[in-house]
Amino acid sequence: MDPDGKASVAQLLLLGTSSALTALLFSVYRRRSAAAAALQEATKVSISQDLRGLLSESPGKCVPYAVIEGVVRSAKEPLSSQFVDNCKGVMERLTLREKTMVWNRTTHLWNDCEKIIHQRTNTVPFDLASHDDGVATTVRVVRPLDAAELDLETTYEKFHPAVRSLTNAIGHFLSGERPRGVQETEEMLRVGDSVTAVGELVLDRDAVQLRPPKQDLRYFLSRRSYDALLAKQRRGARAWGLLALACGLAACGALAYVLWRRGRDRRALARLGGDACAVCLSRRRACVFLHCGHVCSCEECYRALPQPKRCPICRAAVDRVVALYNS
Ligand SMILES: [Zn+2]
Ligand SMILES: [Zn+2]
Repeated sequence: MDPDGKASVAQLLLLGTSSALTALLFSVYRRRSAAAAALQEATKVSISQDLRGLLSESPGKCVPYAVIEGVVRSAKEPLSSQFVDNCKGVMERLTLREKTMVWNRTTHLWNDCEKIIHQRTNTVPFDLASHDDGVATTVRVVRPLDAAELDLETTYEKFHPAVRSLTNAIGHFLSGERPRGVQETEEMLRVGDSVTAVGELVLDRDAVQLRPPKQDLRYFLSRRSYDALLAKQRRGARAWGLLALACGLAACGALAYVLWRRGRDRRALARLGGDACAVCLSRRRACVFLHCGHVCSCEECYRALPQPKRCPICRAAVDRVVALYNS
């Protein structure tokens, strides 16, 4: 706290940062819980023989937010896994992650870090078909890469460790960064996988399509069941809510502390009147500085003055200090 009773820059910074962070976390929580609520309200549509008829009777031949569950069927020649035999899919994502250990100067520990250095996703057009083989109707999934939840199956994973040598080790010690190696991953959405897709269902000419929805709704393409997907969205929203709450409590705590310090210093100032130390404003003036003769500070503040000690009022060098005793 400053001598004039105002909050210090650090306290205001803490208060400002925690309030801004609370607002940010709360807005994420609001968005996530709205998405979970919209998912719960979405129309459940099953892939059946009369799906076209149902859509042609709907306004605009579309269902703005629909949930469909079906089996992945490739509409063209499917993609083959580059690592696993007889593994066919409609989406394939190859990722190279560089793993390093970075020296933290504050905690004096090596921390694990990873960075994506390369990622490529291949897709072929695909449909969702009914679990019942007797139903011929299929739904074409449009722009699957726009999906918010795209949990692909990991079909291959390999870690390539970095080459170690003495010269490298010295270089890493000096730079504070030690490479561990590269993780290579292949993930796929396989032909025959059961998928829950949530988006805008449209009858376009004679084809049924699922597209990214409008009005800020989230597009989902997940291997989970609808219930599991909904539960995951709710859990995610709740976690953001708890984070926002914790951050809000910290902001309130910081505000209460600033106000309490301010009140305490004001009360001390009122109690001491003109006798309050000019530095801390909370204790009685208790020493005379020689040779300027100023009586302006308490003993603790005198001891805390940086060397060489100078009078806080006139900046004259303090050669000697005499304690004052009020009786
Ligand atoms: Zn003082
Ligand atoms: Zn002085």
